[in-house]
Amino acid sequence: MPPSVREVRAAIMAWFRREARDLPWRTTRDPYRIWLSEVILQQTRVDQGLPYYERFLEAFPTVEDLAEASEDEVLKRWEGLGYYTRARNLHRAARVVAAQHGGRLPQSAELLQLLPGIGKYTAGAIASIAFGERAPVVDGNVKRVLTRLYDMDAPIGETETERDLWRLAGALVPSRHPGDFNQGIMELGARVCTPKTPDCAGCPVTSCCLSRARGTQAERPVRRPKRTVPHQEMVVAVIAREGQYLIGRRPARGLLGGLWEFPGGKVAPGESHGQALERVCREELGIAVEVRGLVASVRHAYTHLKVTLNVYRCDIIKGAPQPTTHSELRWAAPAAFEDYAFPKANHKFLNLL
Ligand code: SF4
Repeated sequence: MPPSVREVRAAIMAWFRREARDLPWRTTRDPYRIWLSEVILQQTRVDQGLPYYERFLEAFPTVEDLAEASEDEVLKRWEGLGYYTRARNLHRAARVVAAQHGGRLPQSAELLQLLPGIGKYTAGAIASIAFGERAPVVDGNVKRVLTRLYDMDAPIGETETERDLWRLAGALVPSRHPGDFNQGIMELGARVCTPKTPDCAGCPVTSCCLSRARGTQAERPVRRPKRTVPHQEMVVAVIAREGQYLIGRRPARGLLGGLWEFPGGKVAPGESHGQALERVCREELGIAVEVRGLVASVRHAYTHLKVTLNVYRCDIIKGAPQPTTHSELRWAAPAAFEDYAFPKANHKFLNLL
């Protein structure tokens, strides 16, 4: 027999009230703070995200403060958290909220989803926690709990399975204190119904969990086969002039948009690192360089790509750098690096300069 809605609801609500971790965004109904915590926690663990949450609020205590900040200031506060699109969207949405909603977030999941970067999950979380709307949330933790509770064998990520999960979460979320239920089921997934070693004995829904009864916990959720992540060799040019280094700002749109970086690019098939550097500097900066020694070789993994950055000192032998792929170029001294937001991969060699 599938678990009853009433039983699951009651057990999760009671457990959450007893066991909820004391987190700063749990002691507020301020939608801006709840929104910020949700955006940070989308791809970041609580212990990692907490200091960022606090520092971000110190710099931008209200939506208006965030709206008035420059993108550079926002990216700087986000630096190290990764997935910078989150920060750029947060900033863009704050500007919309300030300009079109008088600085107050729209109060329903439906309207929240019209803001940049707010999808169904974030909208549901803000609407249920801050405004008490009976809106469901489905994130990775909720998927794990639900697929186990109902012993679902359809692969997550498939459109139909996702639709079923949202439907199920929508049926479970109560009209009274929907935010507590949503936080409860997410927290249950994060702390009890964990991916590898679920603590079924200590779980509040153990008596009605189908996976537990059938012993299929380790097989749930079912995943689609993984793609292998490709690897790319990259070259990076460290070009110095009177103690300053040439850096460029990536265009606002696209991967790592708006961040600063050292010039560089992909190594084409059959190219040596030296040839790639000469080509990249010619194409990106309009200059001819002589390649000197290797500074560092660092590896970095994005979700879709693994890269090795081969960082070389280069001297300009002809031309003056002009931005062609960057929106802007600057000469920066190492002491000023902290004023610029660099991608994580650049941080791996910055301290060597
Ligand atoms: Fe997860 Fe085990 Fe609880 Fe089922 S009983 S929801 S598998 S922790």
